[in-house]
Amino acid sequence: MLSGKVALVTGAGRGIGREIALTLAEYGAKVVVNYNGSKEKAEEVVRLIEEKGGEAFAWQCSVSDFEQCGVMVEETIRRFGKIDILVNNGGITRDNLVMKMTEEDFDAVIDTNLKGTFNTMKHCYRPMLKQRSGRIINLSSVTGLLGNAGQVNYAASKAGVVGMTKSMARELASRGITVNAVAPGYIDTDMTQAMTDAAKEATLAQIPLHRVGSTKDIAEAVAFLASDKASYITGQVLSVDGGMHM
Ligand code: NDP
Repeated sequence: MLSGKVALVTGAGRGIGREIALTLAEYGAKVVVNYNGSKEKAEEVVRLIEEKGGEAFAWQCSVSDFEQCGVMVEETIRRFGKIDILVNNGGITRDNLVMKMTEEDFDAVIDTNLKGTFNTMKHCYRPMLKQRSGRIINLSSVTGLLGNAGQVNYAASKAGVVGMTKSMARELASRGITVNAVAPGYIDTDMTQAMTDAAKEATLAQIPLHRVGSTKDIAEAVAFLASDKASYITGQVLSVDGGMHM
């Protein structure tokens, strides 16, 4: 489905990003496994891809660093010749009620989740324009669509990702580039492990399909949007959340 394609996945050392990297590679893409702090885990993802006959390399860069994102995109093109698929997955939470949320907590989440998505898209813009093809998939969240007490910073960042996705989709549509978002619900990763048992139960009660999602649920949706099968889909937000948002 993706053979001959080159994909860059941010935050691909663990969690959802790891599964996305492995899945895109399974479908034939060469993958740049971006990480921020998880060097060994990212190298393990590269090893797993190579063991199955795929091609990948790990690249350290914080998506909140505009210049470093440029270097990462340049390196992708230097080593793999082009960039077809950008998946903006890397993200953080700093949850708290606004009463206790610090300015630093607010800024850190916006810098990584929202500005980080801008940074990588900005650097992929020109190469994708020149190719007159490309796929950009941004990870939003059910929280960006519904809101959630204790996540004002995170919800703002993920709602921002939706607005940015739709605007980019309009800018790039005439060049054959699609830009979509995937909005996961409650997925079993380190991010949700950090929730209290009470919060986990309360969230589960809001899921019509009544199960926690897997990283594979998200990765397959991303792979579909990255493929030629989705060539007539742009500016959309695909909820993969067991029906939490409908
Ligand atoms: P995890 O907390 O399990 O992993 C976070 C990932 O983001 C890690 O790979 C981490 O890299 C990376 N990351 C964090 N900061 C940066 C940065 N500055 N630069 C590059 N990468 C960074 O999260 P999930 O896998 O659960 O989430 C992945 C995405 O899906 C996020 O955008 C999240 O908001 C979204 N999402 C997740 C949901 C869930 O239920 N899990 C629900 C809705 C949305 P490293 O370890 O190398 O620092």
